[in-house]
Amino acid sequence: MLANLLDFDIEGLAAFCERLGEKRFRATQLFRWVHQRGESDFSRMTDLAKSLRDKLPTVACVQPLQVLSEQVSSDGTTKWLFDVGQGDAVETVFIPEADRGTLCISSQAGCAVGCRFCSTGHQGFSRNLTTGEIVAQLWFAEHVLRKRFGTTERVISNVVMMGMGEPLQNYDALVPALRTLLSDHAYGLSRRRVTVSTSGVVPMIDRLAQDCPVALAVSLHAPNDLLRNDLVPLNRKYPLAELLDACNRYIPFAPRDFITFEYCMLDGVNDQAAHAHQLVALLRGHSEGGVACKINLIPFNPFPASGLLRSPNSQVQVFAQILQDAAIVTTVRKTRGDDIAAACGQLAGDVQDRTGVVQRMERRKIMMQTQKPEMSGRKETAL
Ligand code: SAH
Ligand code: SF4
Repeated sequence: MLANLLDFDIEGLAAFCERLGEKRFRATQLFRWVHQRGESDFSRMTDLAKSLRDKLPTVACVQPLQVLSEQVSSDGTTKWLFDVGQGDAVETVFIPEADRGTLCISSQAGCAVGCRFCSTGHQGFSRNLTTGEIVAQLWFAEHVLRKRFGTTERVISNVVMMGMGEPLQNYDALVPALRTLLSDHAYGLSRRRVTVSTSGVVPMIDRLAQDCPVALAVSLHAPNDLLRNDLVPLNRKYPLAELLDACNRYIPFAPRDFITFEYCMLDGVNDQAAHAHQLVALLRGHSEGGVACKINLIPFNPFPASGLLRSPNSQVQVFAQILQDAAIVTTVRKTRGDDIAAACGQLAGDVQDRTGVVQRMERRKIMMQTQKPEMSGRKETAL
């Protein structure tokens, strides 16, 4: 089987080159071709020794994800649905803003945590993505967008692990992927501009601090254990006090001196003034000096199976004001890509939509079987 070069961080690639009897510095050249130039054809990597160029196709490949569909929102937000085999699909979303380009990446097909307000959680867990599949989302988006915008400059400046899945439950694949995102020989992203979002896998927060500290966002959603147990079932394993301790342990290693807490505003469930006051008390009162944080209030993106509703804007404002009055920096997230269901928690839609994915994939298979051979290269056409 061919090794997928997207599976390797630069150290891994150097070890791979050594196994081929090549010098380690070849890995840097190869890494740059693949990630900086988006090249997957070894014969075009002209500064590699001819012997290596000839050998590589027999042992390695650059394995892209198959695109099932692409949707572009009226605000420029672009959502891709990728086929990861066996009826599973994951989504990646590009969000353009004046001063940055953010890519929201998936880490798993489905998710085992099962948060009540999250459509991915309602789907259940299928499998972990490989490092190559995580990196392939950025590899693809960066180079497609550069071509589309007619630039050789970097398009994606920020990456958030806020697509499908719980990144810290796929830790071993996540860390090499993060290293590739940060590498100057690949995407050269700043640690401050790469964010891991977690529902609170406490032991892995500690490991991330040691292995690859990037910006950390923690999905809080509730100011007490009773409510959080219900909304984020992982809280039963790692309750709030333990989670906030882990946040405080992370801060000395973090590229920013605060943690971002995400709080999805659910009408009548966690959005009352009393919840806001409780949240202030929790964050201020925890340990000696409280937790250094910012709070990001997320308007809930409803889906029928959740049985939940979005909080009215007026309620979000009341809630935000209570936090701000307590000197906690609070932002309300803009919803983007609403018209293409690319907002948080809408990724890959609900269970019904997932069936739609399977049907689309079946149609594609039939199409490909009936296509003439010269057509079969056009796998990436949206269906
Ligand atoms: N599993 C990780 C990262 C993926 S979810 C986590 O939970 O942090 C990314 C963010 O989207 C989380 O903050 C999550 O709470 C939020 N989210 C999930 N479903 C949502 C929905 N329906 N509406 C708004 N935000 C949602
Ligand atoms: Fe999983 Fe995050 Fe969705 Fe919870 S919010 S089910 S942890 S993807």
